[in-house]
Amino acid sequence: MTTRRSFLTTTAAALTAPLSQLGCLADRPAASTASAAPVRTRTVTHLVDARPTIEGAGVHLRRSLGSAALPMLDPFLLLDEVHSERPDDFMAGFPTHPHRGFETVTYVLQGAAHHRDSMGNHGVLSAGSAQWMTAGRGLVHSEMPENTAGGMWLFQFWVNLPRANKWVAPRYQDIAPERIVETHREDARVRLVAGTLDGRTGPVQGIATAPQMMDLSLDARGRTSVAVAPDHTAFVYVIEGRVKVGADEAPMRAGQLGVLSRGGRVVAKTDGERGRFLLVSARPLGEPVARGGPFVMNTDDEIRQAWDDYRSGRLVQP
Ligand code: FE
Repeated sequence: MTTRRSFLTTTAAALTAPLSQLGCLADRPAASTASAAPVRTRTVTHLVDARPTIEGAGVHLRRSLGSAALPMLDPFLLLDEVHSERPDDFMAGFPTHPHRGFETVTYVLQGAAHHRDSMGNHGVLSAGSAQWMTAGRGLVHSEMPENTAGGMWLFQFWVNLPRANKWVAPRYQDIAPERIVETHREDARVRLVAGTLDGRTGPVQGIATAPQMMDLSLDARGRTSVAVAPDHTAFVYVIEGRVKVGADEAPMRAGQLGVLSRGGRVVAKTDGERGRFLLVSARPLGEPVARGGPFVMNTDDEIRQAWDDYRSGRLVQP
């Protein structure tokens, strides 16, 4: 079993350094004073190209967040894209492996993934569906490709849990395609998975970091603006085509992640080519982060404890 082992040697110190360089924690605004304060439009402060990586039992994917270029973006820990028509690139899947202390979010565009855990939970994530899995105090599961005739295309990102929530019972929110809120925002077609947009609320509920997650599509010449929580960490990841993002209209293409500055609005436009992108934001935690492979805790001792619990069969509690 190999899984996410490339993170094993990452230290908390190495992880926090790039954050200060990005200004993601430092530029948090003071408590808002008046509701009439002007809304700041966010800009792209950092652009990261997804890099080819091999994970699980030999899945070829592209990693942006969680790579050397951007080890983390509090509270986000990882963003992987699996996109291939060749079964050899993904059929090996992610066999049995543990998690503790954070959440995994899977969003499937093509193909399907079968998840199964040691507590007997299982299900198939079909094309167009999403899963928000809170690992909490611990689970052992597998994520395997299924129905892959047309290839596989999915995203998985990891969201940290605050210290107070790392020991909650595991929880799954499996969101079938028809439960994702489909709406329009100016020129954009939007699939809203979590958070609110124009008074509508996505199906994922009760997440500690109050995330907003949506998939936006623009035709070749379109624009849109989206309200986001001003002090939340936010990023854009381009799924297809090209998009100009932020107040400075930073050009982005498929496979690029853009870290956004603080502000209450995200703007995006296309200029001759269609574009599709994920917009994700959540409340930063500002807590120490200790990572060890599939475990994300606050201290190195807690990581050692997680490995001990896993090896001795105590990770999964009834
Ligand atoms: Fe997993």
